[in-house]
Amino acid sequence: MNTRYEKENLSLVADWKTLERIFIRPEDDECRKTLVKYMEQILFGLHDFLKFNVGITEEISLKELTLGFQNTIINKNPEKKLADVISDIITVIAPRAVNVASPYFVGHMTAAIPFFMVHLKAITAALNQNVVKLETSKVLSVLERQILAKIHRLIFKESNEFYKRHVQSIDTSLGNFTTCGTTANLTALWVARNRFFSSRDKLDTDSNFRGIEQDGLIAAMHSYSLEKAVILVSERGHFSLKKAGGILGIGNKNVIPVGVDAKQKMDIKKLNGIIKDIKKNGKTGIISIVGIAGATETGTIDPLCDIADLCEEHSINFHVDAAWGGPVLLSEKYAHLLKGIENADSVTIDAHKQFYLPMTSGMIYFKNPCALDCISYHSNYVNRAGSVDLGIKSLEGSREAHSLILDSALKIMGSRGYALMIDHGIETAAQFAAEISKRELFELVTKPETNILTYRIAPPSLKNKISGSGLREKIKINRVIDEINITVQRKQREAGKSFVSRTRLKRKPGDKYGIVVLRSVIMNPMTDINILKEILDEQEKIFFSVFRRKKQ
Ligand SMILES: *Cc1c(COP(=O)(O)O)cnc(C)c1O
Repeated sequence: MNTRYEKENLSLVADWKTLERIFIRPEDDECRKTLVKYMEQILFGLHDFLKFNVGITEEISLKELTLGFQNTIINKNPEKKLADVISDIITVIAPRAVNVASPYFVGHMTAAIPFFMVHLKAITAALNQNVVKLETSKVLSVLERQILAKIHRLIFKESNEFYKRHVQSIDTSLGNFTTCGTTANLTALWVARNRFFSSRDKLDTDSNFRGIEQDGLIAAMHSYSLEKAVILVSERGHFSLKKAGGILGIGNKNVIPVGVDAKQKMDIKKLNGIIKDIKKNGKTGIISIVGIAGATETGTIDPLCDIADLCEEHSINFHVDAAWGGPVLLSEKYAHLLKGIENADSVTIDAHKQFYLPMTSGMIYFKNPCALDCISYHSNYVNRAGSVDLGIKSLEGSREAHSLILDSALKIMGSRGYALMIDHGIETAAQFAAEISKRELFELVTKPETNILTYRIAPPSLKNKISGSGLREKIKINRVIDEINITVQRKQREAGKSFVSRTRLKRKPGDKYGIVVLRSVIMNPMTDINILKEILDEQEKIFFSVFRRKKQ
């Protein structure tokens, strides 16, 4: 025990005088200087403390870390001054966090952000607006509507008159900022569910069903003479869609996976077959079909035009989960990959992924400016009927003004600036795929359609054995290859210089078992082919040091 330290603590008291000092201005002059110094470091990218490695090291194990976080009692008196707390964060916490900004960190959808994002985030924190209502946000509610219309236009390309009419209309809504992609998807499917089970006049006249939002799922099923309701999405769908199935009361097993083709895209024939079967049975309602624009694991884009056609033919709601791929629309070169998205009823885009906003910010867009009416809520203290508050038609309550960050970022970089990063990701992923295919030890598993690809280490001796063997033997050899990939991925992560993630994928339709694959996501503009070659070199080295030695 450090007694000097404890004595110092005793000099800190929680009284009104100290509180006023802390609340109104940062303590004394010296403290102020320290704070400005730290603010400078923070604003310029936490340079000193996150520079060295990706930080997934096992230098400190999780177990060891947890030992330092066992205290479950809140102190009565202050322990430390503000400047000391910040200094602790910088010296103790930051080095043990993960350096997601490293160009060698290519395993996840979280990466470096432009440094000005930190300024913008600090400004929104300082303004502390709450866009749930006009009375706590004023111009920021108006600004939010404008940026929503800009992105809506990027997706749906409606006419000038359309945007003139809706950009600041208080009766309609083009979308919402949300906490993340999960709540954006939930909002979309909530709306789809309510629109499917609305109180439509086609119901028999003696039904007094007022819609599912009011009367609930059981009354809805009864009123529509249905036994279940489903959502269809490709096998590659994000798990947030299953959560939505649970929350919306239809059951997560009724978020039905549709098989994919060899390119990991939704198989339209299979989708068509499922729709036909459901329609034949007559007791199941299809709330929505979800197309993915940039699958989390493989980056692939479903055949959006074909799905849209089927949805139109059968009058089914069409949602596109473009949480990852949405910003590809900013690229003049690659926007065509998302063709068909303009026919969606709703579109999810994450702002904290390829719009490079700080954690966390998602968005949901609706083609029909009245779609959100079916989830509107009022109260007497905020969001009164007839008011213009953005919180009337959103899942979230209080919200930060993220629109200010996105709006500013688009002003600073323009759509071309974003497109440079998008193009770089897609083109670097293609170079990476070529490099993987060139190397004997590696096998490309999913070719990148955007900036995500999967591959695995597959030693030629084992690979050759697979091609000549029966199913059972194949499975056995793949298990061995799986273990190799799991080990190399873990050892590379522990070494702390670079990071790729891993997942399990079925590589072809009809495959019974998945294989372990390494997954890399190229979104950091500083990640180039040379860095990716180094990552492969390191994987080769780890493989030879662990497995070659064992065998010989
Ligand atoms: C990331 C992602 C989500 C979920 O987004 P969160 O922001 O993590 O909640 C949904 N769908 C896809 C395709 C994603 O990539």
